[in-house]
Amino acid sequence: MKVKGQCSLTGKFSLWEKIYAQSSFIAMGVIGTIGIILEDWIWVIPYMAICWYGIPGIVMRHLICPRCPHLHEYGDCLQAPPTISKWLVKKRKTAPLSAFEKFLFYLIFILIPTYPIYWLMSNPILLSAFLLTASMWYLGQFFYFCRRCRVKECPFNRATMTRIK
Ligand code: SF4
Repeated sequence: MKVKGQCSLTGKFSLWEKIYAQSSFIAMGVIGTIGIILEDWIWVIPYMAICWYGIPGIVMRHLICPRCPHLHEYGDCLQAPPTISKWLVKKRKTAPLSAFEKFLFYLIFILIPTYPIYWLMSNPILLSAFLLTASMWYLGQFFYFCRRCRVKECPFNRATMTRIK
């Protein structure tokens, strides 16, 4: 049922939705990583921990995907092949995120688009590409995917917060 001002919750994701979400996120991470390595490689280690370990090893394994109806009820995933997401998630969770889990969630999603900028400043082309891909992912989440998302425990979820105008 479509109510004015409220998006229909999605179950499975279309191919273009997956291509958009996955390619913009991976591109953002790769450009950020390359930009840091080109300037001062030692500082890529924290970014590897934040982005390349933080997303699969913390956000997907422990925080959000264990609570995701798209994966557990519809067998689908927006950000990765469902087989990989199912392999990452050890057991389904229903309890809301704890204060520490929310802190980790925000820390990771704030540092991923901000941490590389200092090292990208000296490379305007890479900086522009990074800001473009980061904007694509975050704005895509905020204005499209999060308004249709069934993971009501996710701090980004805007499906439940969308008021009927
Ligand atoms: S769609 Fe669900 S399983 Fe896939 S990344 Fe998002 S929260 Fe995790």
